[in-house]
Amino acid sequence: MIRLAAVGQGNDSVQVVVRRSGPPRLQTYHVPRIQPMKVLDLLLAIQRDEDPTLAFRFSCRVAMCGTCTVRLDGRAVLACETPVPGGGGPVHIEPLAGLPVLRDLVVDTAPFFAQWAAITPYFVPRDASAGPARIRPGSPERELIDPRLDCITCGACFSSCGIAAAGRDFLGPAALNRALALVADSRDGATSQRLARVSAADGTDRCHYIYGCSADCPKGLDPAGAIRGLRRRPFRPFRRRWRALPGRRRLRFRPGLLRRPGKKSNMPNGGQ
Ligand code: SF4
Repeated sequence: MIRLAAVGQGNDSVQVVVRRSGPPRLQTYHVPRIQPMKVLDLLLAIQRDEDPTLAFRFSCRVAMCGTCTVRLDGRAVLACETPVPGGGGPVHIEPLAGLPVLRDLVVDTAPFFAQWAAITPYFVPRDASAGPARIRPGSPERELIDPRLDCITCGACFSSCGIAAAGRDFLGPAALNRALALVADSRDGATSQRLARVSAADGTDRCHYIYGCSADCPKGLDPAGAIRGLRRRPFRPFRRRWRALPGRRRLRFRPGLLRRPGKKSNMPNGGQ
């Protein structure tokens, strides 16, 4: 472990402004810069050398456990993998938005995991007695599922979502991303319940496609894209019935036909 030298305020130090609790305040520290230096190194240096009362969470230090998520200059990041910005200006570190603060940078993640639990986030086999079934690598099904699987439930997307973090009833990006991974699986035995759940008032229709979740996901997932995918899925049975109609070649099904009149989509691709 690197023991940092006495605190200095020259060019080789980082000015850090941390949002503290009890009482709520902004506290400024000056920490000697090391190379390379992650945000977690900064927090550990403060706690070790300046202020042992500073509270924050971390565990694996390799961006796998999702416990060290904080806001760095307003954006949700994993402290263990995010380099300390250069440039000489102060660095602002705050707890995640939209979750109750327990102490300093430690938040209560119960609201986030309540949403996660609401979509039955585990695989329910359609036929428990059937043998192992495989989804072929490279199949369209596998290509839809794979990009949704790396979620580490870090809560960054929750904090970066203006709807979820504002405390409005919304299942949130992580839960909806997980829901798509499960309903896209042909072996899933709970698809209709899951689709009914995500189609409720607090489901996919609450998303305004700000894309903050996809921009800030540290694992590079696209929860906003998953929400778009879920919005399309309930129309599939309708689409199949449409294809079965006589004369369908002359008329083409367009999902936009199902939208309420006068309601424009704000999705980048027009909601297709
Ligand atoms: Fe974190 Fe990304 Fe999962 Fe959201 S979708 S909880 S940002 S890993």
